[in-house]
Amino acid sequence: MMAFDTIVNLIYLIGTLLIVLGLRKLGSPDTARRGNIEAGIGMGLGILAALIARLPDGDNNYGWIVGGALVGSTIGWVAARKVKMTAMPQMVSIFNGFGGATAVLLAMVELKHYYDGKPMAGTGLVVTLAALIIGGVSFTGSMLAYLKLDGKVKDKNVTFKGQNTVNLVLLLIMLAAAVYLYMQGTRGSMALALVVMLLSLVYGFSFVAPIGGADMPVVISLLNSFTGLSAASAGLIYGNLAMIVGGIFVGAAGTILTVQMCNAMNRSLFNVILGGFGGGAASAAGATEGQTVRQIGPTDLAIQLYYSNSVIFVPGYGLAVAQAQKALKELDDLLSENGVDVKYAIHPVAGRMPGHMNVLLAEADVPYPKLLDLDEANAAFPNTDVVVIVGANDVVNPAAKDDPSSPIYGMPILDVLAAKNTVVIKRSLSPGYAGIPNPLFYHPKNAMLFGDAKAMITEVAAEVKNL
Ligand code: NDP
Repeated sequence: MMAFDTIVNLIYLIGTLLIVLGLRKLGSPDTARRGNIEAGIGMGLGILAALIARLPDGDNNYGWIVGGALVGSTIGWVAARKVKMTAMPQMVSIFNGFGGATAVLLAMVELKHYYDGKPMAGTGLVVTLAALIIGGVSFTGSMLAYLKLDGKVKDKNVTFKGQNTVNLVLLLIMLAAAVYLYMQGTRGSMALALVVMLLSLVYGFSFVAPIGGADMPVVISLLNSFTGLSAASAGLIYGNLAMIVGGIFVGAAGTILTVQMCNAMNRSLFNVILGGFGGGAASAAGATEGQTVRQIGPTDLAIQLYYSNSVIFVPGYGLAVAQAQKALKELDDLLSENGVDVKYAIHPVAGRMPGHMNVLLAEADVPYPKLLDLDEANAAFPNTDVVVIVGANDVVNPAAKDDPSSPIYGMPILDVLAAKNTVVIKRSLSPGYAGIPNPLFYHPKNAMLFGDAKAMITEVAAEVKNL
C-alpha cells in the first residue's frame, strides 16, 4: 500500500498541476472561466493535503484551521459578491495585502519558536526574515494603494519634499536591522524581531506614498509579486512545495505584469518607484484654455456610424462606471448587421486594472477576435472612418506623443487621430485618472457627445434602429 506521505505529496502534485493548467487557460477569455475553476480546485487540493499531512509534532490544530478557513472564506465570498466591477482593483489590493500580512504572522511565529529554543538552519533564518520583510512591505504598501485607489487618501497628503531620500535611508535601516538580527542568531530576541517588523511596515507605507495617480497599476502588480515572494519564502520555511510553487507563480506573474505595464507606459520601473507622475503631477491646465470643442448629439453619431465602413470603439474607465458594455454590444450588433466593420481597441492600462476592458467586453459576449491590442489598433486607425471613445481619456491623450512637457510624454497611446474622425462620449471635459487635460477634445477632427456612456450609447442604438 502507498505510504500516507506519498498520497499527500500526490495530492499536492495534482493540485499544483491543476493550478498550472488553470493559469494557462486564463490567457484567453474563451477558456478563462474554466481555468479559474480548475485553478480553484487545485488550490482546494493543496489545502486538503496541508490539512491531512502529518506534522512532526502530530498536532494539526483542526479547530483553529477550520475556524480560520470558515471566517476567511465567508469574508472573501461576501466581499467578492458585493464588490462592484469598478472597485475590483481595490479588492485585489486588499487581498494582496492580507497575503503579505499572513507571511509576517508566519515569520513572527517561527521566530518565536526559534527564540524559545526550536532549532532552525542558517538558511531557515534568512528565509524567515525575508518573509517577514517582504510580507510587511507588501501589507502596508497594498493597504495604502487600496486607500489611494479608493480616493480615501490623496497623493498630496502623503508626499513631501525629499521623500525619496528618506525612503532610501529607511530601506537601509530596515535591511541593516534584519542583517543584525540574523547575525545575532539564537541571541536575538522577539523585541528585535518586532523592530524589524515595524520597520518593514513603515517602509511599505513610505515606499508607496510618493507613487501616484496613473502609476498605481504598476505598484499593485509589483506588490503582488512581493507577496508571491513572501509566500514562497514561507513555503521554504515549512518545506511545503505547494506553497513554494504557488508563491513563485505569483511572484513571476506579478513581475512579468509589472515589466509589461512599464513598457506600455514607456517608463522604467525605477522611474515609476521614484514617483512624481500622475495624479499628483503638475498639470498643463493652461494648454487647452480658450479652445473650443465641437459638440454633437446621439442622432448625429447614429447617422455617422450607420454610413461608415469601419468603426473602432475605444472603451475606457467610463464604460465600466456606466456599465455600458451590453449597450455597446447591441450597438455593435446593429451596425454589424448593416455591414459596418466594428472592432474594439484595448489599451493595456485602460480602466482600473489590467484586463479590465477585456473582462467587461467578455461579459457582454463581444467575440474575442474583434478586440485589437495597442499595436493592432494603431495599425488599423488610418483605415478607420470613425473611432468612438467611450469613457476613455488618458489612453487616447495625444499629449503623450506631441507634448514633451506633459507628464505622460512617451507613454504609448491609442493614436486615434490617425483615423478619419473621432467622437468622445463622456459627461464633461474633466480630466481622467492622470489629472491632465486632453487636447484630443479640442482637435478639429474630434466631436464630443456629452452624457453618461450607457444612456448615450442606448440613444445612439435607438436612432440607428430608426434609420
Ligand atoms: P481615464 O481615467 O483616463 O478617464 C475615464 C473617463 O471616463 C473620465 O475622464 C470620465 O470623464 C469618464 N467617465 C466617468 N464616468 C462616466 C460615465 N458614467 N459615462 C461616460 N464617461 C464617464 O480612463 P482610461 O481608461 O482612459 O485610462 C485609465 C487610467 O487609469 C490611466 O491613466 C491608467 O494609467 C490608470 N489606471 C489604470 C489601471 C489599470 O490597471 N488599467 C489601474 C489604476 C489606474 P467625465 O467625468 O467627464 O465623464
